Amino acid sequence: DVVLGLESSCDETAAALLRADGTILAEAVLSQLEDHTPYGGVVPEIAARAHLAHLPGLVRRVMAEAGIGPDGLAAVAATAGPGLIGGLIVGATLGKGMALAAGVPFLGINHLEGHALTPRLPGVFKAGVHAGGLEFPYLLMLLSGGHCQCVRVEGVGRHVRLGTTLDDAVGEAFDKSAKLLGLPWPGGPHLERLAASGDPARFALPRPLMGRPGCDFSFSGLKTAVANIVAKGLDERGRADVAAGFQAAVAATLADRAAHALAMAPDATALVVAGGVAANKGIRSALAAVAAKAGLPLVAPPIRLCTDNAVMIAWAGIERLRLGLTDELDQAPRPRWPLAELSVTAV
Ligand code: ATP
Ligand code: MG
Ligand code: FE
Repeated sequence: DVVLGLESSCDETAAALLRADGTILAEAVLSQLEDHTPYGGVVPEIAARAHLAHLPGLVRRVMAEAGIGPDGLAAVAATAGPGLIGGLIVGATLGKGMALAAGVPFLGINHLEGHALTPRLPGVFKAGVHAGGLEFPYLLMLLSGGHCQCVRVEGVGRHVRLGTTLDDAVGEAFDKSAKLLGLPWPGGPHLERLAASGDPARFALPRPLMGRPGCDFSFSGLKTAVANIVAKGLDERGRADVAAGFQAAVAATLADRAAHALAMAPDATALVVAGGVAANKGIRSALAAVAAKAGLPLVAPPIRLCTDNAVMIAWAGIERLRLGLTDELDQAPRPRWPLAELSVTAV
């Protein structure tokens, strides 16, 4: 009972094979970073063509590595949205073709639900703390380049969005501020490195929405503040200080929002962080402090499972397959697909 997962919603091409108990048999991720870097962002047309060129080869590679043929598959799961439509069509169509050929169910997975359910993957948790696995409901902070949301995860297909960004996603804010500081795209990791040598207290950067009710986010004011400081001219030292100040402001804001979200979901069993920005150590430790104060564990999957990957798609497929929530072969990929609109009844 092995499930194949495919991911192609943005700029990572990925395939993975998981056993139904969550054991990862093989996984592969191909970043398109170099294809898009000259343009300073993801170009949809280039992304779609790159998925088309590389996804079949990745599937062949993981199947060879695991020693599994089409007759060894129990189901095929592919990201069906949200994301860039060209890439979604490539992955979903390949997934449907394989499911059709193997005579097994197809699962069109919501990428956000992939991020949301990954922390339940056995092995993501430290033994002892999470011996019984992660139970619903839990509070998810999804912090990526395209999304910034607080979600109460109540079950498979059952997610309540408690808050979202009013403007930029947090990863986008990192990338834009990094660009202002002259750092290469995508700037998040570069900014974190620069911030390590800076003084976070030198520049007083705004902490948007801090202390306000609810758990919405806003980052555009922070980016504008960075732009204004940069415009006055900065030496090397100053750049590091701005980076440190920016990161401290984001971490403090996220911590404040997470505390509010936990108050809105008092029955949460854990605070979970996912998405590429979860790689940031300053942000992780700020959120760990919030969780500790609420007497809850902070669950942060390993970085490679925080950023886009196919293990999370296969795992969401396994969780759905267990409940009989399979999809028809005429399911259309959806560029926009909010978590609140997931299917929870079997077809
Ligand atoms: P989505 O998953 O929302 O469709 P995405 O592909 O941009 O979008 P991810 O791959 O999960 O999302 O994350 C990429 C984002 O994470 C980028 O904005 C990047 O700058 C940011 N990021 C990665 N590492 C760090 C870090 N150490 N500190 C801050 N931000 C980071
Ligand atoms: Mg990405
Ligand atoms: Fe993602």
